[in-house]
Amino acid sequence: MRQVIIIGSGPAGYTAAIYVARANLSPLVIASSVEAGGELMNTTDVENFPGFPEGIMGPDLMQRMREQAERFGAEVLLDDVTSLELSGDVKRVTVGSGETFQALAVIFATGSAYRKLGLPDEDRLSGHGVSWCATCDGFFFREKTIAVVGGGDSAMEEATFLTRFATKVYVIHRKDSLRASKIMQERAFNNPKIEFVWNSSVTALNGESNLESVGLIDTVTGETRTLDLDGLFIAIGNDPRTHLVHNQLALTSEGTVEVEGRSSRTSVTGVFAAGDVIDPTYRQAVTAAGSGTVAALDAEHYLSALPASLVASANSSS
Ligand code: NDP
Repeated sequence: MRQVIIIGSGPAGYTAAIYVARANLSPLVIASSVEAGGELMNTTDVENFPGFPEGIMGPDLMQRMREQAERFGAEVLLDDVTSLELSGDVKRVTVGSGETFQALAVIFATGSAYRKLGLPDEDRLSGHGVSWCATCDGFFFREKTIAVVGGGDSAMEEATFLTRFATKVYVIHRKDSLRASKIMQERAFNNPKIEFVWNSSVTALNGESNLESVGLIDTVTGETRTLDLDGLFIAIGNDPRTHLVHNQLALTSEGTVEVEGRSSRTSVTGVFAAGDVIDPTYRQAVTAAGSGTVAALDAEHYLSALPASLVASANSSS
């Protein structure tokens, strides 16, 4: 049995792992089989993580966090959690290989998942012109006409990045002003390859084997039209990844895991949560890292107050 299992390997999970490992609690980090490193693996330049004045590529930052955690004794497992049993003193975490791990404390840092438009052909055309990841798929759209949906920082970042490949990038946004930060807006406004399509929602994704066009509706006038496109990148935000803990942990009305005040304590004793899965508002790599720190410290305090016999059982078996 472990003292601490950390589920998730974004900035929250790895930062929690660094702290827990430095407290000599040898955490197991279950990092996912395909998405280890979290959302930043799909990002290019990260310019706002303190300590990197020149910026750092998202995957490089995550690799460094992982190495830092491993240096202090964290074990990283590239597998997916399939089920959790969180009640009771001993928590059970089962992964894709079928193996079940036990721990006295669990830190839940599963982040968030890309939001979908909810259109009928979205899944069918995913990977065939419809994408959620410019850094992964941008290369396939050399000299093409594409669009990005959304008005936040992600949409601006993706649109700007995609102008490296595409001839033309539309940004389709349902309002007439952006939610994105000023600096990201300016970059997009000043890019001659980007054209904004304001007050417009995507109503249909058309195409047989690949996306050929999208249906649009003007959110003010109700007018409809078709826009020919080779690709559509959806950047409309994320939803907290809570499917593993439905019916086990209390959730907020926003769908995030509920924690007590500024702590990471969830509704179940010995279970702590950190990062985007508890944060509907700030959702930055830096805030997630800070949140991972809080979870690690809370878990340490929790373990130090447990009966010695229980802690000894975690130390004596694997
Ligand atoms: P946001 O929630 O900030 O923005 C989502 C955008 O998508 C909004 O403009 C929203 O419209 C629109 N939207 C939401 N749902 C739909 C829908 N169903 N149909 C059409 N449009 C929709 O998400 P982001 O992913 O952009 O950013 C998340 C967080 O990550 C933010 O805190 C952001 O600052 C941060 N971030 C920072 C980056 C950086 O600094 N380099 C890069 C990327 C993200 P509306 O405005 O009408 O609500």
